[in-house]
Amino acid sequence: MDLRESAEDLSFRHEVRAFLEDSLGSDFAVVRGRGGPGDERALFDERLAWERHLGAHGWTCVGWPKEHGGRGLSLRQHVIYYEEYARAQGPGRLGHIGEGLLGPTLIAFGTPRQQQRFLPPIVAGDELWCQGYSEPDAGSDLANIATRAERDGDEWTVHGQKVWTSLAHWADWCFVLARTSRDADPERKHRGISYLLVPMRQDGIEIRPIVQVTGDSEFNEVFFDGARTGTDNVVGGVDEGWKVAMGTLAFERGASTLGQQLNFRNELGAITEVARRNGAAADPVMRQRLAQAHIVLEIMRLNALRTLSRGESGTLGREAMIGKLFWATFHRGLGELAIDVLGADATVCGEAGTGTGSGTGYDPNAFQRQFLFSRSDTIYAGSNQIQRNIVGERALGLPREPR
Ligand SMILES: Cc1cc2nc3c(=O)[nH]c(=O)nc-3n(C[C@H](O)[C@H](O)[C@H](O)COP(=O)(O)OP(=O)(O)OC[C@H]3O[C@@H](n4cnc5c(N)ncnc54)[C@H](O)[C@@H]3O)c2cc1C
Repeated sequence: MDLRESAEDLSFRHEVRAFLEDSLGSDFAVVRGRGGPGDERALFDERLAWERHLGAHGWTCVGWPKEHGGRGLSLRQHVIYYEEYARAQGPGRLGHIGEGLLGPTLIAFGTPRQQQRFLPPIVAGDELWCQGYSEPDAGSDLANIATRAERDGDEWTVHGQKVWTSLAHWADWCFVLARTSRDADPERKHRGISYLLVPMRQDGIEIRPIVQVTGDSEFNEVFFDGARTGTDNVVGGVDEGWKVAMGTLAFERGASTLGQQLNFRNELGAITEVARRNGAAADPVMRQRLAQAHIVLEIMRLNALRTLSRGESGTLGREAMIGKLFWATFHRGLGELAIDVLGADATVCGEAGTGTGSGTGYDPNAFQRQFLFSRSDTIYAGSNQIQRNIVGERALGLPREPR
């Protein structure tokens, strides 16, 4: 496959770049480079307006098929879009859970009614979503969930607790994994789980923020105490939610991260700049580490191209299975590099309110936030250990882990 950019792709790249430069250079300059991991609470109203601006100009959900409100982009152009977004330092997307996780799931598994009801507000930036999977006793072992839903006439009532629910405090809806029946055989506990779409703004749901080490609180505990949703808001059939849940996870670890290396490149650029200024780059070991980070980013770019060259049809091959493990491990190391470049200065934080406004007792700078938040990269969306199991079992065909 020819990996050079075609004239069509190049013209697409210029179109995206012009739109982003124009928008972020004027009305939306304030959100440039803001939000996202470690800075998630920043500028909510302004970033919501940005979502709607993107939606109004057809720049949300660009990889979705046209009949569902997307642009029907090829995987390659989808990645170009992510690259240009990172290059322009577009703000952390408030709608990314709806756009990247729930939307593709509904397109694959939803009923026409569910698609018509839920997809347009995601495209327009009018409804935000959160993901209700993890519980205190169910993370990697997701089938262990205890949250349950019971049928009550033409509604389901939900009881239980979710945890680590990113952006629940802003979300209008949550896709919730709940137990609707129980198989007596513990080996088959993934049976009897349903995938429910639950409105967040109702009695019966309590959201408690969890303050993270960054000082931010992008995730929450969510308590369901008789929360209600309609019986037509079950995706993929009652008791049949496991395959839908796995489909969502595949989207979470898939194409959306292929353009990632440009975000990381921006971060490495900032780290290198500080290393030049504060003298850290004079140290030969530090120079090696900076060069090594550059090399790994280049490998990531080439690997993205390799994945693309096999996955033009839209489905990613087994090469993609190393993606999450690779970028998460690299990015955690990049956070450590940032702190080492700062040296002794890394041990001092600004007072609350002096920096990016995390709202707690101290205010880490960008490198400190990057370091602290990147510790979680190797945990969310499947920990490194779970990713290795996936690579071993599904990509390499090794014997399955004993259950
Ligand atoms: C920043 C962040 C945002 C998140 N957002 C959300 C969200 O929006 N919605 C949501 O539902 N969840 C969210 N999560 C939760 C995330 O999905 C879980 O933290 C993750 O699945 C791991 O589960 P756990 O924390 O229960 O750890 P555990 O599953 O208890 O794992 C503990 C340790 O044991 C290891 N381990 C577990 N099982 C195995 C195994 N079979 N083989 C080898 N090692 C194993 C793990 O790798 C880990 O090191 C978020 C987490 C973070 C950090």
